[in-house]
Parts: sequence; C-alpha cells; structure tokens
Amino acid sequence: MKYYAVIVAGGSGNRMQTETPKQFLLLKNRPVLMHTIKAFAQSSTQPKIIVVLHPDQHAYWNRLCVEFNFNIPHMVVAGGKERFFSVKNAVQQIEEESFVAIHDAVRPLISTELIDKCYSEAEIKGNAVAAVQSSDSVRTLVGEKTLALKRNEIYLVQTPQTFKLATLKRAYQQPFDSHFTDDASVVEFTGEEIKIIEGERNNIKITYPIDLELAELLLKV
Ligand code: C5P
Repeated sequence: MKYYAVIVAGGSGNRMQTETPKQFLLLKNRPVLMHTIKAFAQSSTQPKIIVVLHPDQHAYWNRLCVEFNFNIPHMVVAGGKERFFSVKNAVQQIEEESFVAIHDAVRPLISTELIDKCYSEAEIKGNAVAAVQSSDSVRTLVGEKTLALKRNEIYLVQTPQTFKLATLKRAYQQPFDSHFTDDASVVEFTGEEIKIIEGERNNIKITYPIDLELAELLLKV
C-alpha cells in the first residue's frame, strides 16, 4: 500500500496578532512547519509528503529550507481560500491508490506513534480521525440561551484524519459548505461513517500566542 501525508498550511492566520503566519513562527529555533514535516518523515509509515502553502509564501518557504538546511523531500502545492480548497488542491495531485493522512501544519507536537496508528487503523476501518474527550464541561448556544451538553458524549477533533484516496476524491467533489471545518465533516457528508481514534493531549493546534509558549515547553528535541 502507498501512503501520503497532506500537511495543510494554507491559511493566512490572524489570531496570533503577528505578521508571520503561524506555520513559520520559530519553535525551538526552527519554523513550526519543519517540526511537523519531520514527525511524518520519522514515522515508520514513511508517507510521501505534500505541503499546502499560500502561493505568496512558496518562495519564502524555499528560502527558509535553504537557511535551515532542511532537506526532507516534499511537494509544495497552492493553498485555497478555505481549508476545504487547500485540501482539495492537494488531493488532486495524488493519483496512485493510497491512504492519505491530512494534518494541520500548526500541530507540530504530533507523535510518530499516533501518525502510524492513524494509517494502520484507517487500513482496518476505512478511515481514522484523531480526537480526545473534553475535560471541560461544554455548553451549546441555542438562540440567546446556553444549554449544558453531556461531556462524555463530546469529542474534540484533531488531526491527522486519514482516509482512502478514493473516499477523499469523492468527498472533495462536493460543493463547499461553511460547516466543513475539517476533513471528517466533508467525508461524513457523503454518508461515510467516521471512526475516531484516541488522539493526544499534547497534539495542540498553535492558534493563540499561549499555544506557542506551551509547545516550547512540551516539544522534546
Ligand atoms: O482555520 P483553522 O485554524 O482550522 O486551520 C487549520 C489548518 O488549516 C491550518 O494548518 C491552516 O494553515 C490550514 N488552512 C489551509 N487553508 C486555508 C485555511 C486554513 O490550509 N485557506
């Protein structure tokens, strides 16, 4: 079987209150994206790696690779206006029958064990989506009121999200819907049942400045 990893970094990102896109911020003196790519390259599965970046950032990324002497082979494709279009562009590049893990570039703390488990579980069950149970109580907004939800029925969804290529190709032919916030939601809309696998608490998504500080503390290099 063939394996691919699509690492999405196509967003412009403005919640960090910084000019530099999150995937290029330095974490232990290396851009976040390099840590993420390295995790996939070091996994036993050894997938082929596709990185999705906004076209304006391709030249900058090439310069960073030279500056940091970063030699892990990967293909770079153009990001789209929404995450949906970024993933779609990458999926269109893959032609051979394979399992494809889609992963947020801004989750650099992913372990090689979770990467490998995502592929092996997807081979057994058709797909595998990493998620953890909520440790906070959760409420939902209904009109102007909030209502408590059953915490043990709530999963916080992470990446990797791993699927058969054919499943992804079919799913990404659908028209974009603003409710598509991840690949599981896109695939589920075609009628396929999503299979959760246990994610990792450390697999944080660098979204706010505090997340980068946490990642510095948690990253073992
Ligand atoms: O928007 P959100 O924070 O959920 O983004 C998750 C991941 O999707 C990030 O790695 C981001 O770079 C990527 N993304 C993308 N193309 C977009 C928007 C987000 O690849 N247009």
